[in-house]
Amino acid sequence: MATEIGFIGVGNMGGPMVNNLLAGGYAVRVYDPNKAAVDACVAKGATTASSPKDLADKVETVLVCLPTPAIVQAVALGENGLSKGSKIKTYIDLSTTGPRTSIPVAEALAEAGIVALDAPVSGGVIGAVAGTLAVMVSGPHNDHGHHRPMLEKIGKNVFYVGAKIGMGQTMKLLNNLLSGTALAVTAEAVTLGIKAGLDPKLMIDIFNASSGRNTATETKFPNSVLTRKFNGGFGTGLMFKDIRLCLEEAEAQGVTMFVGSGARQAWSFAMAQGSASEDSTQIMEHYEALASVEWPKGSS
Ligand code: NAD
Repeated sequence: MATEIGFIGVGNMGGPMVNNLLAGGYAVRVYDPNKAAVDACVAKGATTASSPKDLADKVETVLVCLPTPAIVQAVALGENGLSKGSKIKTYIDLSTTGPRTSIPVAEALAEAGIVALDAPVSGGVIGAVAGTLAVMVSGPHNDHGHHRPMLEKIGKNVFYVGAKIGMGQTMKLLNNLLSGTALAVTAEAVTLGIKAGLDPKLMIDIFNASSGRNTATETKFPNSVLTRKFNGGFGTGLMFKDIRLCLEEAEAQGVTMFVGSGARQAWSFAMAQGSASEDSTQIMEHYEALASVEWPKGSS
């Protein structure tokens, strides 16, 4: 019989991860307040639970992939949270929540006899669909080893970062500092280029053949900005959260981040001009408006 596991938060990332776990031979029971997201999982063979506690009464292992630290805390420790469940033994957090959430949550879960692992992921919706995510695991080594075959169903690059909970989360914040800075600074560069008369597609082609190449020039601009589809699948609110969490960690550790502070300002600007729910590639539109630049007609 297939091992049954639980999954909470079946959105842009969690939904495709559930599909890969089902395809990999696991029986998956899901919970999410968004009925459409749950229905999509059920159509692929998942079963459902009525609350985090209900899920934790039914399965030993629960993965969560949730949008904010406050929601992670509520799902793990709230009134109807996982910590109140009778069967759960292991909680694995795939969300980006930062060590300052994952450490106290793990400590509180330990009091309820539940082992916590950090396992934040990178690779976007494309990686989640393909099952090629990078997974950055921290927590007790043996528990990581026990659950590694399951994590390999969602990511082909599973890295064990260390035994101390929070280390995986810190690693993930550092990654997103780099990726968010690259997207913001690429939008700045392309905006200046357009104002100076350069063609956007030609600029991206040249960056990608040159030393300015980065994840924004290689993937996000070609797929989502040049096409004006703005469909990268990673929200501006999530990007701002990750950069903010990274800067908070830097301040707590006494590490100065000059460029990182600029990136936080850029994403704060995108939040103010647009919205948390829009696609993070839309930061380009906000730079265009700020510089009174019009996207050249016919350039895509
Ligand atoms: P999303 O908003 O698409 O999905 C989040 C899901 O959580 C939604 O289906 C929502 O209904 C559900 N949810 C909200 N409140 C809930 C609650 N109280 N109980 C249960 N479910 C609840 O977000 P996403 O893009 O899938 O991101 C999820 C996490 O993964 C975030 O922490 C994000 O930073 C991280 N992440 C996202 C990407 C990406 O490219 N989108 C990449 C790497 C990591």
